[in-house]
Amino acid sequence: MACVSYPFEAPVSQSLFDRAAVVTPGGVNSPVRAFRAVGGTPRFMVSGTGPYLTDADGREYVDLVCSWGPMILGHSHPAVNEAVLAAVSRGTSFGTPGEGEVELAEEIVARIAPAQQVRLVSSGTEATMSAIRLARGFTGRAKVIKFAGCYHGHVDALLAAAGSGVATFGLPDTPGVTGAQAGETLVLPYNDLAAVRDAFAAHPGEIACVITEASPGNMGVVPPREGFNAGLKALCQENGALFISDEVMTGFRVSKQGWYGIDGVSPDLMTFGKVMGGGFPAAAFGGRADVMAYLAPAGPVYQAGTLSGNPVATAAGVAQLRQLDDAAYEKVDAASAAVRSLVTEALGKEGVAHRLQTAGNMFSVFFTDQDVTDYASAKAQESFRFTAFFHSMLEQGVYLPPSAFESWFVSTAHDDRAIERIAAALPAAARAAAGAVAA
Ligand SMILES: *Cc1c(COP(=O)(O)O)cnc(C)c1O
Repeated sequence: MACVSYPFEAPVSQSLFDRAAVVTPGGVNSPVRAFRAVGGTPRFMVSGTGPYLTDADGREYVDLVCSWGPMILGHSHPAVNEAVLAAVSRGTSFGTPGEGEVELAEEIVARIAPAQQVRLVSSGTEATMSAIRLARGFTGRAKVIKFAGCYHGHVDALLAAAGSGVATFGLPDTPGVTGAQAGETLVLPYNDLAAVRDAFAAHPGEIACVITEASPGNMGVVPPREGFNAGLKALCQENGALFISDEVMTGFRVSKQGWYGIDGVSPDLMTFGKVMGGGFPAAAFGGRADVMAYLAPAGPVYQAGTLSGNPVATAAGVAQLRQLDDAAYEKVDAASAAVRSLVTEALGKEGVAHRLQTAGNMFSVFFTDQDVTDYASAKAQESFRFTAFFHSMLEQGVYLPPSAFESWFVSTAHDDRAIERIAAALPAAARAAAGAVAA
């Protein structure tokens, strides 16, 4: 880190960050926002319009984070804003059922066949936590299989990402998660069906579910090998376990039906968040009606939320989903393809070894000349090159995810002008990546 300089200062952001650090641990409410992986001052954003963000120092950026996925229509989309303002004017929370939550559930169920019923929650973390509880309640089993490098929110049992070999019990990845909470979690290498088969053989009748990102985007973009999700589904079926596909990131982003619309594998349970909330805290889990029937008050597995199905959040979600027709996805896909080819061209020109990996319109760059198929190969990249690349782009007004292990996101609002600004910034950033040296 010592050899990277940050020539562009952000004094207002820095002073806000200093104030924040007094009252909030590390100055942020979600760790990656603190820029620790890349260094420098996190930009405090004050407004967003279309593909652009403006920070507290008055600088404008082309946004390639899109709030980590939700802003698929760009910022301040008129249809979403109008729905939100109308909802607010009717009152912001009732603690009773309301029509908005029925509409949002209907939008989801209509698009995604395996989601026969859904329950609305307020975050992706709640969705995966509840789905795991339901899977355990339904099967009467305790153990959960997850994959190294897959992120499912900060659920205790799912923060276990360590574990060196097949069928190794997960070690807690963070203090505060007990061995008991993580000990029922088996962490396996991603894209390794043989490891899953072995784990089922080693623990007959004990595994409640396998949870996987439908197509991982939280170790950078590492798509499933052909047949991997189908293989997981088949192994779950053979062994009486449930297959849970976490589509919090991919859902309603990579197609109208999310990753399910791309690979067609029917999970028993699914989780959603990000895009479906239209920029508000709304998420969901859903799936087979006979499994969902185990959920209170229909069944015995408890799950609840004071703000679940909040009328403002559901209005935003419904408005956003209704904008997302085939033409909208064509736009997002085209913007993604345009940015990808510019990135490859710029890095190629400078001779920077890289792999640009894609899952639908999600993509990320790995600074390596090896294929990236799992967490170990993702971590083998030269992430110091990303640091230099990131800061060059930032200085030139392009806001990338502040980590080499995150997907980049575009929106329907990423038009030619926004893409030209990215194109203009890339040559210098590619040179910075080429010239970077390990700290
Ligand atoms: C973002 C994410 C989550 C967690 O969602 P939050 O709303 O941040 O709690 C879970 N799973 C996946 C795949 C995600 O990308």
